[in-house]
Amino acid sequence: MPTTTVLIVGAGPVGLVAAIELTRRDIPIRVVDRSEQRTKLSKAVGINSQSLELLEPSGLTERLLASGIRIQRANIWFDGARMLTLDLALARHRFNFILALAQSETERILEEALSERGVTVDRQASLTGFEDHGDRVTAGLRAADGTESEANARRLLGADGSHSRVRQVLDIPFKGARYDETWSLADITLDWPHGYGEINLFLSAGGPMLFTVPIGPDRIRAISQTDDVLGMLPSGTRVETVHWQSTFHVALRQAERYQRGNAYLAGDAAHVHSPAGGRGMNLGIWDACSFAERCAAGTLDGYSAERHPIGARILAITDRMFRIASLPPGPGQLLRNALMRTAARLPVIQRQIAPQLLGIER
Ligand SMILES: Cc1cc2nc3c(=O)[nH]c(=O)nc-3n(C[C@H](O)[C@H](O)[C@H](O)COP(=O)(O)OP(=O)(O)OC[C@H]3O[C@@H](n4cnc5c(N)ncnc54)[C@H](O)[C@@H]3O)c2cc1C
Repeated sequence: MPTTTVLIVGAGPVGLVAAIELTRRDIPIRVVDRSEQRTKLSKAVGINSQSLELLEPSGLTERLLASGIRIQRANIWFDGARMLTLDLALARHRFNFILALAQSETERILEEALSERGVTVDRQASLTGFEDHGDRVTAGLRAADGTESEANARRLLGADGSHSRVRQVLDIPFKGARYDETWSLADITLDWPHGYGEINLFLSAGGPMLFTVPIGPDRIRAISQTDDVLGMLPSGTRVETVHWQSTFHVALRQAERYQRGNAYLAGDAAHVHSPAGGRGMNLGIWDACSFAERCAAGTLDGYSAERHPIGARILAITDRMFRIASLPPGPGQLLRNALMRTAARLPVIQRQIAPQLLGIER
């Protein structure tokens, strides 16, 4: 029998969390990643309450809290006027805030914690394919210099992102579609009246939306459903520094199943969706924790049946949030705005909405 119980393909946030959660249960693992180094990009910037709760037993939450910014207020604006300030502290949860932290920092904290447990990521090791023999999986790996090698493991976890090689080898369809718009994002230091402590969603009668999240004491992440996020900033804003800028497309897709034989999928390999609600990385962290718990309990057969419906529900929530935020002028938009203004006056409604934004599921 192979000495590695689980071969984890991909050392993004999901693969790293799976590695830590398995290691702390004394399950032998190996982690491979094709890249030379971990990401330097800020990518996912919001860690939600549920992730903080899930990562507490491994001691990761304490480390993440020490590095991130706690955000408790979210404002929704319409044509320059504030419709609603949502007080996330109204949620009855000890982590009643969004923890803002660049993904590059999250991955640094995860990889350091893993290495303290004696596991180093095998970098520049790319999965080319694998074969499931029933009692073990044999994976083909290619090093940066082209050298080919084999690795044996009892099980294989594909945490290898949206273009997952594991999913391709398993021939599992990744059903869904791409939204039409080109989106853009920028991490910026700016001079504006909204400060660096709150989330803002700027909506307008006919135009696209702009979403901002603080990611440092003097830095915000701005995301817009256009290819020119800087052009979407409210008038009077003075941009001082653009630290990173990019455009991207958003898709809503889910793997038809998360398991075949001894191979499993987690994170973006299993699902991708819009940034609305900031659920992407958090849903993957949840997959990883569930995989590790089931692996230790010997209940992995139920992994796909548990995770697929949860993924489908969260994809539907993010799609609904995106569509509500993008409503064109008309009765739907008027009704949405009226409901927001009502919620602004009634903390009892805010108490219902806050847990959803915080990803509180249990
Ligand atoms: C520009 C951008 C902005 C984003 N903004 C947000 C946001 O604001 N909020 C949010 O929630 N999410 C956001 N996301 C999405 C978020 O980054 C992902 O949901 C998250 O990274 C998923 O983690 P993962 O570990 O599943 O996959 P990934 O982070 O993609 O990691 C996959 C890893 O697998 C490795 N790999 C791939 N193929 C192989 C192979 N064949 N062999 C070995 N290794 C392999 C890769 O090198 C990579 O390290 C953003 C993404 C991008 C690109």
